[in-house]
Amino acid sequence: MIVSMKLHANKADIESVCERVRDFGYKIHAIEGEERVVIGIVGTGDVTACLESIEAMPGVEKAVRISAPYKFVSKEFRDTRTIIRVNGHDIGGDEFTVMAGPCSVENERQIMETAEGVAAAGAHMLRGGAFKPRTSPYDFQGMELDGLKLLRKAREATGLAIVTEVMSDNDVDLVAEYADVLQIGARNMQNFALLKALGRTKRPILLKRGLSSTIKELLMSAEYITAHGNPNVILCERGIRTFETATRNTCDITAVAVLNELTHLPVILDPSHATGKRSLVPALSRAAVAIGADGIIVEVHPNPAKAMSDGAQSLDFAMFRKMMADMEPYVELWKRARLSEAVVAV
Ligand code: PEP
Ligand code: MN
Repeated sequence: MIVSMKLHANKADIESVCERVRDFGYKIHAIEGEERVVIGIVGTGDVTACLESIEAMPGVEKAVRISAPYKFVSKEFRDTRTIIRVNGHDIGGDEFTVMAGPCSVENERQIMETAEGVAAAGAHMLRGGAFKPRTSPYDFQGMELDGLKLLRKAREATGLAIVTEVMSDNDVDLVAEYADVLQIGARNMQNFALLKALGRTKRPILLKRGLSSTIKELLMSAEYITAHGNPNVILCERGIRTFETATRNTCDITAVAVLNELTHLPVILDPSHATGKRSLVPALSRAAVAIGADGIIVEVHPNPAKAMSDGAQSLDFAMFRKMMADMEPYVELWKRARLSEAVVAV
């Protein structure tokens, strides 16, 4: 349930509502807003009786039951965009975010060169996996702690914030020590023990859509993280599994627009895993801008032919530079759209 208080409702009104809610056996999850306070309520009980009772109370504008099974990530809970500040850059704000880097951290030279290369081309964050979820147990599994240390070095050298994957709830604290944003891979979108552990960290989370997950399931996974205490979740469409074989996955580009209707969380697109093919990455990146994504996460490698994972979908520096330059006019339009949206919201 969500209770929307009247403009400038007083403290006593808010406190009485909270008390009544607790009497009905529910818990207050969050109280948001300064001028207009919104109270988020969780739990199970007699919803109808509780709503009727609250709606009759002084200072209450509206009390509504959230029909979707997710609450805190829904637009009904908050209708302004969530902006997540990472290292001075706002994800979900009025700049299009570009995260770029190799699929895996392979060695010092590779990650340092990539960090310098993507920073020079205008990326805001460096991606790179130290813990790799691979389909085959015989494939490169990542450098783990040594990889995290190299990412820290790259951060120190370039100032780029780091986004890197965490695969297990046991590793959340360790990865959070080195990363600015914790990436949850498609295969772990419904690892509920991991999602709960992420709720307890302060780091923002980049949650990738599962290979065969619906948009609702993605939002429910984001709800897990939020309900467990961490509201800073960035959603990522990275392609889903369909009958199509021309691309590695099928990019559900519409998901970006759907998510923008349903949630206030930032939404980004991964054109690399969505296509599996580097020649398609620039076009899909432009599509991400056009459809109103908040950013992209893209794989870049100094020598894709020699990459230890996902070389076929990785751009080299020249391709990345060109893509960034070609995207510029689209990003300009994107900014104008964002700004006019902000004006309308006021
Ligand atoms: C990755 O980002 O390298 C990755 C493994 O992505 P996904 O979980 O989307 O497959
Ligand atoms: Mn990859």
